[in-house]
Amino acid sequence: MAYVDYEKRYDVIVVGAGHAGCEAALAAARMGCETLLLTINLDAIALMSCNPAIGGLAKGHLVKEIDALGGEMGKNIDATGIQFRILNTRKGPAVRASRAQADKQQYRLRMKKILENQDRLDLKQGEVTGLVFDRSTVGGVDTKVGIRFRGTTVILTTGTFMRGLIHVGLTHYAGGRAGDLPSIGLSDQLREFGFTVGRLKTGTPARLDGRTIDFSRLEPQYGDDPPQPFSFATGQINQSQLPCYIAYTNIRTHDIIRGGLDRSPLYSGVIEGVGPRYCPSIEDKVMRFPDKDRHQTFLEPEGRDTVEYYPSGLSTSLPIDVQYALYRSIEGLERVEIMRPAYAIEYDYVDPIQLHTSLETKLVANLYHAGQINGTSGYEEAAAQGLMAGINAALRVRGQEPLVLGRSEAYIGVLIDDLVTLGTREPYRMFTSRAEYRLLLREDNADLRLREFGHAVGLVDDADYGRFREKRAQIAEEITRLQQTRLAPSTADSTFLADFALTGLQNAPSFEQLLRRPDITYAELERIDPLAAALPPAVREQVEIQVKYQGYIERQLEQVERSKKLEATRIPTDVDYQAIPGLSIEVREKLLKFRPDTLGQASRIQGVTPAAVGILALAIKARG
Ligand code: FAD
Repeated sequence: MAYVDYEKRYDVIVVGAGHAGCEAALAAARMGCETLLLTINLDAIALMSCNPAIGGLAKGHLVKEIDALGGEMGKNIDATGIQFRILNTRKGPAVRASRAQADKQQYRLRMKKILENQDRLDLKQGEVTGLVFDRSTVGGVDTKVGIRFRGTTVILTTGTFMRGLIHVGLTHYAGGRAGDLPSIGLSDQLREFGFTVGRLKTGTPARLDGRTIDFSRLEPQYGDDPPQPFSFATGQINQSQLPCYIAYTNIRTHDIIRGGLDRSPLYSGVIEGVGPRYCPSIEDKVMRFPDKDRHQTFLEPEGRDTVEYYPSGLSTSLPIDVQYALYRSIEGLERVEIMRPAYAIEYDYVDPIQLHTSLETKLVANLYHAGQINGTSGYEEAAAQGLMAGINAALRVRGQEPLVLGRSEAYIGVLIDDLVTLGTREPYRMFTSRAEYRLLLREDNADLRLREFGHAVGLVDDADYGRFREKRAQIAEEITRLQQTRLAPSTADSTFLADFALTGLQNAPSFEQLLRRPDITYAELERIDPLAAALPPAVREQVEIQVKYQGYIERQLEQVERSKKLEATRIPTDVDYQAIPGLSIEVREKLLKFRPDTLGQASRIQGVTPAAVGILALAIKARG
């Protein structure tokens, strides 16, 4: 096909306007790059293919980190959320997580508006069918209608679209998502170029008509009051909130599911792709847990201006007649109408071990992959990668070193390190258990960990950065004040001492020592320390956490310090593993396959022993 060369040359071309693509394009344009965002359907920008919600366990951490670095996701959900909740409030601060239901259409429309109004960003509808190469460097993209866009860097964020195949029972058809065209051609070209292209699958429940749900028989679940925002820049959430409803499957539902399995694409072997272990379909849950006589579902509104409800946890690829029967067997849903059928989708992904930690591919220079194309699942995982790919493409254009976050600095660092070091054979989602330094990587301190990076690359403006610096200074000053202020037995409130069994103390404790006690909170301290009340809530929260968990935090910081040397030692890209004596054949094969960037990464590859890492370290040192 003869292509028409487009007149403008771009610094960064982003393919796909899902959650990864939006963050990538915004980051690149905001960092001063002439950016093009190409996507199959401009009406499906930042569309939530599955659950109309942002955040949740570990995912909330990612959103806060994206926000701290200057990304858009947190602000977008704050502006369009319809129910906000903090999860795990009774547990420690490391695992507390924010989650919000989104008004799906409002979320999409607001993100489109932000993109349209971004300087240096062109938004165009078009399907990319191939990449343009200049030897082993990417130089642009070709689209289906015959335009060639030239660009210095290209970021692929194709989500579930490459060779997407939708299944409803034994019926299947090509699609990138229900109602959207698939992307054809791109993954074949990537395979020809040497990329390992695999097949994964995921699924989604039906969307139900709320007018046919009997809510009087279901238990409502309300959000937090007041709702807490995600973004460090959002003052408060002003829009009114909507409830969700809790319902349960039952033994009859499970019988219906079992009766339909012979027509399930999963159980009859039609689907080849590997599904998400942590987000199983209802048929998977029924088969895996035969003793359970019910499974919970939350009926979540898809927005304010629609009657559609999303029954979370009830994804299925069973045929449509079985879908009707199974949903209608649930109490409160006896008359329910399906507005959109549930389905499963298979799609192509590219093995992420073929990426550097900057998300640039190892095979093709200036080509970056981000989001579900890397084998992940989830909007937040996608957005986090998109942001980092956008930042690093822009840094490449500027001729600067990439920004790579460490495992002790961010969940984003853990996510990318896991992907590029270990690869994935099943949809990867983030969990707090994946992070070894959980106590350092809390939602509440995401700004303290990452705002500096965001400002340094140019994504956090001076006003936001100024507010952050003020907060950081207030925290430090307050901790010093608490350390220096002592409870004077003569003047202290004797009731306070008695309440906390402190009357017999020889030495007057400092306020910091008092706050360290598990039974004394900041609010309690205010009884004897009126100055504490004057501080903003975010500063008080931070001081309290830092003081109470100081011992644990210090221990984790020591561990980080010990591992720093390994993380900082880069393995030259031209190292010849075959020529290093002392490495076993297995270790050599692993190193050749994974090609780690640092000794730290090498140490996390299964089968690469500490002794092998030691040998590698010596070999690198010997090269000088
Ligand atoms: P997407 O959001 O898929 O966006 C990709 C974008 O790229 C689209 O805008 C598309 O039009 C565009 N595009 C693709 N190819 C081209 C091309 N060649 N040229 C131009 N544009 C292109 N996640 C969960 O966490 N839990 C779940 O249970 C879950 N279930 C899911 C069920 C289904 C049926 C689907 C479809 C997805 C599900 N997801 C789930 C995944 C979630 O939707 C994705 O993880 C997330 O949207 C990925 O973001 P992304 O930006 O990588 O890709």
